Amino acid sequence: MTVQTKLFIGGTWVDGLDGASIEVRDPHDGSLLAEVAEARAADVDRAVRAAQAAFGPWRHTTAEERGRLLLKLADLIEAHADELALLETRDTGHPIRDTRGLDVPRTAATFRYFGGMADKHQGSVVPVEHGFLDYVLREPIGVVGQIVPWNFPLMFTSWKMGPALAAGNTVVLKPSELTPLSTLRVAELMTEAGFPPGVVNIVTGYGATAGRRIAEHPGIGKVSFTGSTAVGRSILAASAGNLKKVQLELGGKGANIIFADADLGAAVQGSAFAIYHNQGQACIAGSRLIVHEDVADEFVDRFVRLSKGVRLGDPKDPATEMGPLTSPGHRDRVLSYMEVAVADGDEIVTGGKAPEATELAGGCYLEPTVVATQAEHRLAREEVFGPVLAVQRFRTEDEALRIANGTDYGLGAGLWTRDLSRAHRVAHELRAGMVWVNSYKRVNPGSPFGGVGQSGFGREMGFEAMHEYTDAKAVWINYGAQLPARYADA
Ligand code: NAD
Repeated sequence: MTVQTKLFIGGTWVDGLDGASIEVRDPHDGSLLAEVAEARAADVDRAVRAAQAAFGPWRHTTAEERGRLLLKLADLIEAHADELALLETRDTGHPIRDTRGLDVPRTAATFRYFGGMADKHQGSVVPVEHGFLDYVLREPIGVVGQIVPWNFPLMFTSWKMGPALAAGNTVVLKPSELTPLSTLRVAELMTEAGFPPGVVNIVTGYGATAGRRIAEHPGIGKVSFTGSTAVGRSILAASAGNLKKVQLELGGKGANIIFADADLGAAVQGSAFAIYHNQGQACIAGSRLIVHEDVADEFVDRFVRLSKGVRLGDPKDPATEMGPLTSPGHRDRVLSYMEVAVADGDEIVTGGKAPEATELAGGCYLEPTVVATQAEHRLAREEVFGPVLAVQRFRTEDEALRIANGTDYGLGAGLWTRDLSRAHRVAHELRAGMVWVNSYKRVNPGSPFGGVGQSGFGREMGFEAMHEYTDAKAVWINYGAQLPARYADA
């Protein structure tokens, strides 16, 4: 596998100024995949200068042309689907059936959606006093800094860059130091698509150095961050120097409520996807199962049987349903939550440890895990970000809502019921940015994505994203209004 390993600045591939590099490893067996150039603060400065130089011409290209380039990129991503899927699988540990079936198609679809959006996102005319025309332009912000995590690196290239570029901004993007490879490949495809030099710049570096420099850089007008709540808070503080616009897509602790009248077969399947897809490393994972006591025993029994049967293995094998976690450090963090659970008096119903199979011993694997817990316990409140389902029981709808709304987070939530009125009622009362009824974890480029509370603020996708990446400018034209003379003539 030959991969790009340099920084992408001003349309060329360059080493970091300090000549340092970062090792990128395969979480399946720990083997070295690549050593990529490490960007530090001075490299971010170079990237910002390139993005500033590119901004003037880019904002004056026609919206149609920006859209055409994004559409071409979407086609190129599809043309390189197999290669991108394998790259993402090796870098992150996502099973190949998911990178082929979800990550790559969703990336292409999102670039295509924003390609189509570029010349359809329009301003407005405000009905003001007679004699004035007041029209509102949606203007690009300038240079946008984008910092992303390691859980869906390929998809995030499109979620972040799609709307930013469609709106006429230029970009400095930092992938996670753990998973930079698919982002670098997308940058190569962007060159092939014809994006002008400097419109997109990719700096592969660590958070504390390159990431921090993006957050504080005075030449960056907006920073869009996806990652943990703790780092999000530090981004907000670092961005205060030049009062950047900030968008934060942070952690979650998704509530998934099973009412007694639910189709249990569908709910078991959907709840398994909610927590086990991508090994639970999803901000919108349904990591809290809140189940009605009348069906709790049957539900948990069926869910545990499914969990024990999940095919854990080499993510390159098309039969694999769950791969390794993305890094040894993260695997250890998730495992440490098992000690927390035991100390709190929780019951580990299944899993909670690395699999015994010797062929998986060199990788970051964990068994699908179900833990019976209680609302005040840490496992019910803190984001574990792994294949660990925290189960709680309820008696009444009010109690279910109290449990569901009882964490600091508010990202995704779901409920399973056959009662139409209850579905709407509970969806309205859930404190979340997204609610799924009789499904979980649906995303679409047209549907706003984001959270409330400590899950952050701002929205990706849809028209909302175009608003996030533009500023409104009101232009007042006097076409015949008599202005009152308020001052004596000189
Ligand atoms: P993280 O916060 O550790 O890192 C995210 C990114 O920030 C990485 O690129 C990292 O290098 C960078 N970073 C780290 N410290 C920084 C600093 N001081 N200044 C600037 N940048 C810094 O998160 P992670 O462990 O990579 O990802 C997991 C987290 O991401 C989870 O909490 C998950 O819920 C969250 N997430 C949220 C969404 C969402 O849309 N709400 C989506 C996916 C993941």
